[in-house]
Amino acid sequence: MDVVSLSTLASDREKTVSYLREKGLLVTYTRCPFCGSEHIGEVRREKYKCYQCRKEWSIRRGSIFEGMKLSWEKILWAMKLFEMEVTAHKAALQLRLSYEVTLRLYTLFRKAIWVHTQKEGKSLLEGEVEMDESYFGGKRKGKRGRGAAGKIPVFGILERGGKVQVEVVEQVSAEELVRLAVAKVKRGSLVYTDRFKSYDGLVSYGFRHKRIDHGKRFANGKVYINGIEGFWSYAKGRLLQHHGVSVERFPLYLKELEWRYNHREEDLFELLLDVLREYSQVADNR
Ligand SMILES: [Zn+2]
Repeated sequence: MDVVSLSTLASDREKTVSYLREKGLLVTYTRCPFCGSEHIGEVRREKYKCYQCRKEWSIRRGSIFEGMKLSWEKILWAMKLFEMEVTAHKAALQLRLSYEVTLRLYTLFRKAIWVHTQKEGKSLLEGEVEMDESYFGGKRKGKRGRGAAGKIPVFGILERGGKVQVEVVEQVSAEELVRLAVAKVKRGSLVYTDRFKSYDGLVSYGFRHKRIDHGKRFANGKVYINGIEGFWSYAKGRLLQHHGVSVERFPLYLKELEWRYNHREEDLFELLLDVLREYSQVADNR
């Protein structure tokens, strides 16, 4: 959805409500959620009442928006700004909301995306696959690369012409890397890595394995890992805008970037709505 359509939609409360219902983001009750009676009706704007037990509930009941005091207009615009990669800090100014409230919404979006990427992560990558690790964060310069202090190691796999999957890892040990390869890549796939020795065991787990030598990059025709390296620079460039993300929140941001990267040719606003609908169903099951 572009901003022109969004602004038309967001300025019309009733249209917004039917749109969100249609997208499965609001629960439509045909019975009273308290006593089950079918004798219910809308008594005030966005308030429903049961004529049997006399209880009332809001249109947001049972949805991810339950308890939120924000107008629909602001919620829709927050989704749009999030889609457009406007930081929570800047979005708060645009929406005339506090940073805390904006961040709470953004965190809801990120959690929903995180849950969705866990599901996406279950489909195995195959064919020609690039594997690599990279280090994120850490304010001091100096020691770089494998084993650098204060940095978060991230393992990444990219299927050529397909998707990327990234995971924060405790350490880049051979056990950890092989465990992730087995969990995420179909056996028999051709795996490209650099010369890091933790990748040594791949062949014994049923993968075909080619290494590239960073000193002689591109020398061997197809032996390169610049697909996954492209993702690392994509992710690092974007994380810089957030001026440092805490270690606790880092996985949430990382998976958001994986999702954005994997769906970069699609309408992310529509996808965000899908992801939020999925998330509200997950929340229902708890
Ligand atoms: Zn009732």
